[in-house]
Amino acid sequence: MSDLMQTFCTQCGEESAGLHADCAMQAVLSPPRYCGDCGRRMKVQVTPLHWVAVCSVHGEITG
Ligand SMILES: [Zn+2]
Ligand SMILES: [Zn+2]
Repeated sequence: MSDLMQTFCTQCGEESAGLHADCAMQAVLSPPRYCGDCGRRMKVQVTPLHWVAVCSVHGEITG
């Protein structure tokens, strides 16, 4: 229910999100590449103002 409860790392797609210090730092600077709920690779579009990441299962995430 919360972004803090993601199972998969949104940067490298592996499990144990939150244990990846490097990925956490990377996530501050760049949009996610993998869905935090299922670990699937997402289709990411980046614009100067925001990004849109689409998981084929969980839909669109924006930031
Ligand atoms: Zn990671
Ligand atoms: Zn997903």
